[in-house]
Amino acid sequence: MQNSSFTEAASRLCAACGMCCDGTMFQIVRMQPGEVPAELGRLGLKIRCRDGEYHMEQPCSALVEKRCTVYDRRPVRCRLFNCQQLHRLENGETTAPDAMTMIVETRAMVEQVKHLIGQCGLREDGQALVERYERVMSTPVNAALEPELLSVREELDETMRKLKLRLNREFRLPPNSH
Ligand code: SF4
Ligand code: SF4
Repeated sequence: MQNSSFTEAASRLCAACGMCCDGTMFQIVRMQPGEVPAELGRLGLKIRCRDGEYHMEQPCSALVEKRCTVYDRRPVRCRLFNCQQLHRLENGETTAPDAMTMIVETRAMVEQVKHLIGQCGLREDGQALVERYERVMSTPVNAALEPELLSVREELDETMRKLKLRLNREFRLPPNSH
């Protein structure tokens, strides 16, 4: 695909997706050498330090309606990241409509997971999806007293399993590339 048409198509796909910024695919984005954490912090990004290494927490506070509000000053890893769908589009291994269908279907699975997490009693709390899922699944349930809750959790577990598989196969890159 030509560079300019790829950029346009990628921009439309990302505007419908946001999953690499909103805590669906990642919990953190690592800072790179030369980046100034305080500067990124001043942009409103959630910069944290663990064992002397800085990272940004997701969901990203700069994402508003699936658009990056600090685009020109975004962290290095954000600049370098293109998901598998975008790589395939650039290489001619998928088309823009097929990539959009993949995004729409995957986002529907994310919404289903969020809905089920809500049904399990955990309200939206600004944490990454996998953290919220793990909190729900680690809360003890009395199967005799709460049989309905048990079945919602089973559905959540199954939907999350399918979502993780799809994110790994269709969106994430090999480890250490983001
Ligand atoms: S996961 Fe891919 S399509 Fe979605 S916002 Fe990120 S780069 Fe764009
Ligand atoms: S800074 Fe922008 S590109 Fe980076 S995670 Fe946040 S919204 Fe996404």
